[in-house]
Amino acid sequence: MENICPIGQRFASEISALLTPPSPLQVQEYFDQLLSTRKCRDIKVNPNGDFGKGVYAESDFTEGQLVLKDQMLVGAQHSSNKIDCLVCGFCFRFIGSIELQIGRKLYLQELGVPKGCCGSDSSDGEDDSCIENGDSSMACGSSTTKDKVSLPKGLVESLMNGELVLPYSDKFSLPPAVPCPGGCGEAYYCSKLCAEADWETSHSLLCTGERSEAISREALLEFVQHANETNDIFLLAAKAISFTILRYRKLKATYLEKQGKTPNASSPTDLSLLFEAWKPISMGHKRRWWDCVALPVDVESSDEAPFRMQIRSLAFTSLQLLKAAIFDMECEPLFSLDIYGHLIGMFELNNLDLVVASPVEDYFLHIDELPYPQKKEAEDITQPLLDALGDDYAVCCQGTAFYPLQSCMNHSCCPNAKAFKREEDRDGQATIIALKPMCKGEEVTISYVDEELPFEERQALLEDYGFKCRCPKCMEEEP
Ligand SMILES: [Zn+2]
Ligand SMILES: [Zn+2]
Ligand SMILES: [Zn+2]
Repeated sequence: MENICPIGQRFASEISALLTPPSPLQVQEYFDQLLSTRKCRDIKVNPNGDFGKGVYAESDFTEGQLVLKDQMLVGAQHSSNKIDCLVCGFCFRFIGSIELQIGRKLYLQELGVPKGCCGSDSSDGEDDSCIENGDSSMACGSSTTKDKVSLPKGLVESLMNGELVLPYSDKFSLPPAVPCPGGCGEAYYCSKLCAEADWETSHSLLCTGERSEAISREALLEFVQHANETNDIFLLAAKAISFTILRYRKLKATYLEKQGKTPNASSPTDLSLLFEAWKPISMGHKRRWWDCVALPVDVESSDEAPFRMQIRSLAFTSLQLLKAAIFDMECEPLFSLDIYGHLIGMFELNNLDLVVASPVEDYFLHIDELPYPQKKEAEDITQPLLDALGDDYAVCCQGTAFYPLQSCMNHSCCPNAKAFKREEDRDGQATIIALKPMCKGEEVTISYVDEELPFEERQALLEDYGFKCRCPKCMEEEP
């Protein structure tokens, strides 16, 4: 079984070098540079904190104050969530219009598009309660197939094509939906800027359209289908690989240019450039997915070994499909099962949910709060839509992302900060808010689990992250 991955043997030393955790000095340099490019002077990353690396306050914070906004390195909306909302493929802002959001959802609902079996939600049994949203009443659940009211024929179409304008929707205008320049018809953006940025960071290799730079679009479609049917975290791992390949190509072109050589001269892999391209990812990965994923409740502990073998072979299948689609000889070590396993592990274990609130929620709330005659008039039009949409009329955008700074934050069951989206936080960036006053030099902590849970339950959940919590609350409650 061990020779399942021949590449793993060919590049054993390169792969183990790529998977070696960066030294404290490298961590320090990387984050100092990241924070200075982001012009963020209020926090710093210390690689030698009490629990390995950690985030520390560089100035005082008052309760409720914004500690930082963290731009994701790579992220993706869950496949199943794509039916519920249309968001920018790069910054995850809602796009189009209120009418398009509602019409599109009703249209797909009517078509009976399956919600997809999203492995990341079912296979790891992990608690995802880390990120809370501004409005706790927000319908974040998945669709329930209650009897939905049918609408007059043509109504859904006129919502989607802009013929029907809903009352007061102009107060909730959204950026227009810009289609992917590669022609896939799958990805949309809030602006040309976001479209270009996504193209350059990963989408040029993962686009299924005619201008795609993948080596086989057929293979790519197969890879995407497999991921949608098994675990959509594979799509995110593929993004991380594309991101690294494209970074490598850019670094190499710059390097060759400086040397006065033509950028497309065939030359062997420049390993130092491959390591440099991989650096942002190297800050985040920890363990192989199949070694560390929590055993689902329906799997007996005696079946643990076969279960881990099974998900390893699932990842292997996915990787072979990806390889057929975007393989790059110079980046061959990236296509090893070991690297792939660590990438999936990175997204499954960092507990970094991507959440963006839906403007459709705000829209219907606005209608509900109108004074009497206006409310009645508006509701004559909006109420049938609300009934047809059902309970989950305003599902928020949900996905998984890797946030470089947030992933450095250590856990505490009595944290001094939390990930919390305010009214104005309308894109995919992580937002960290102070829960209590914080002094310069203090470590910024968040809770990876619901800190209201009893001691034993918290410890059990934290076991998935590979540590035993020794925060003041745990020390006090430990029996
Ligand atoms: Zn955008
Ligand atoms: Zn595309
Ligand atoms: Zn604790």
